[in-house]
Amino acid sequence: MYKITAFLLGISVIACSAMAAGRVCSVCGMPLAEHAKNLFVLQTEPAAKEPLHVCAISCLKKAVKHDPRYKKIEVADFNHPEKLLAGDKAFFLLKSTKIKADIGENVMAPYFGAFATEAEALEAQKKYGEGVILQGVENAIK
Ligand SMILES: [Zn+2]
Repeated sequence: MYKITAFLLGISVIACSAMAAGRVCSVCGMPLAEHAKNLFVLQTEPAAKEPLHVCAISCLKKAVKHDPRYKKIEVADFNHPEKLLAGDKAFFLLKSTKIKADIGENVMAPYFGAFATEAEALEAQKKYGEGVILQGVENAIK
């Protein structure tokens, strides 16, 4: 009996560590990089469910369409990807293909950068020499 319990315990420890090691997109299942730059975090309002972590604008659209209760949307800050910005306040640089080089692997088009201020978005637009700036995730996903 002791052996079986120890064995089951071992399995659950392995399963938990595997989950902690890699978060995946709640929609498409693609692995999410730590501090991913194209990450959205969705929460229902009021918070009733576990937040969703999605990897791309296309996955965000699917998630919101599937469950419109996910109204609170946060997005990773391009310049400080360990931080999240309020989606309705963030400035998005869209329609830049050159930005992909700084986003990383395993990112689905359309690529974007989300910034805390318009000045930062303008700076990025200047750096890449292209792109359109819009404020608010609502406008960015249209
Ligand atoms: Zn995804």
